[in-house]
Amino acid sequence: HFLLSTVPALTVEGPFALEAEFQADSDPSKVNLIIGAYRDDRARPWQLRAVVEAKRQLRVESSFHEYLPLQGSREFIGAAKRLIFGDAIVNKISESIASIQTVSGTGANSLIAKFLDKHTRCGSIWLPDPTWVNHKDIWEVNAPRIEMRCYPYYSDSTQAVDFDQMLQTLNDAQQGDAILLHACAHNPTGQDPTEEQWDKIARLCQAKKLFVIFDSAYQGFASGDLDRDAWAVRHFAAFSDLEIAVCQSFSKNLGLYGERVGALHVVMTRSPPTTATHVQNRLVDLHRAFVSMAPLFGCRVANQIFQNQELQDMWQADLTTMSGRISSMRNALYSELLRLRTPGDWAHVKNQVGMFSYTGLSKEEVKVLRTKYHIYMLPSGRASICGLTNTNVKYVAQSIHKVVT
Ligand code: PLP
Repeated sequence: HFLLSTVPALTVEGPFALEAEFQADSDPSKVNLIIGAYRDDRARPWQLRAVVEAKRQLRVESSFHEYLPLQGSREFIGAAKRLIFGDAIVNKISESIASIQTVSGTGANSLIAKFLDKHTRCGSIWLPDPTWVNHKDIWEVNAPRIEMRCYPYYSDSTQAVDFDQMLQTLNDAQQGDAILLHACAHNPTGQDPTEEQWDKIARLCQAKKLFVIFDSAYQGFASGDLDRDAWAVRHFAAFSDLEIAVCQSFSKNLGLYGERVGALHVVMTRSPPTTATHVQNRLVDLHRAFVSMAPLFGCRVANQIFQNQELQDMWQADLTTMSGRISSMRNALYSELLRLRTPGDWAHVKNQVGMFSYTGLSKEEVKVLRTKYHIYMLPSGRASICGLTNTNVKYVAQSIHKVVT
């Protein structure tokens, strides 16, 4: 008769369970390629120089801890909007963008799912296959009314975006469906559409009147340049008749993972300005029931950087440092596999972008890497390149070599 006695059992799986297994592993040669968080060349967390300087300038010990407004910090939202859409678009259509500060990217994804479920007639959400492991749970939990569908995104045989299959499948999408796209540095594959392919996707969304959701968690991590990595979002936003949402995370590009800094923007160019107000108020209303308002501290740090040119320059240099180290580790792993004459074509390791490599290793090979060599990555074969260092990259290459030969 107790309520709790009927709670069904659940085995905890996924990246965080694997991380616990890694922490418990006492082998000195263990390597962590699991979690999508930047690490320095000693495999340790790294504070961005811009963040260290922003915190120093803020003199955090003397600051108050008041609630933010429900919509979030006005300065933060304004700057976040300009970072993703660029000045030209914001100056043109600012009145048509509803924005709210969220509990980072996860909060933004959850809020748009809740919003579409409760306040629109959205029929299906189309997710890429594969996608970030949390997307399915987010939509299942927050949008029970909306049917979840998948479109093929990646071909294992060509190790590239499966563009033809993707477009063919999306032909089944109906007016009023939503489609989720990764703005850049697709997680887990590290493969983004070309500009020409992005344009075709935009035209398909326009023709079919699909609601487009960009998940932008890696702006600055694909190319090292914030503007270049926003290309797809800006290209879509320049269409005059697309409805777009952007789930924006600053976890990775500011290294503010635990501070939960993010925003959700909803763009509706064709609608009268009153629509943006309705959407804005509904988002705030839903968010109030859900978490009230987003947290303050990380947003304060981000604001300090956004409002100060010197700190922005430092931030850009930090992005170059992070993307440069990732790129050099990709090259190191690739060269080592080539030197060892490891069977297979490993060019994808250096050509993919962002934090991850979709290695192409099978579930079984991933398991042997873990159990025999203490190298941890996701069962899908996704390896976080940030876990590689000049000290361990040879060991990782040698272990992969042994596992696949
Ligand atoms: N979206 C994608 C594709 C991600 O990879 C992640 C994090 O790994 C997120 C969103 C959300 O991250 P956060 O909630 O820390 O902003």
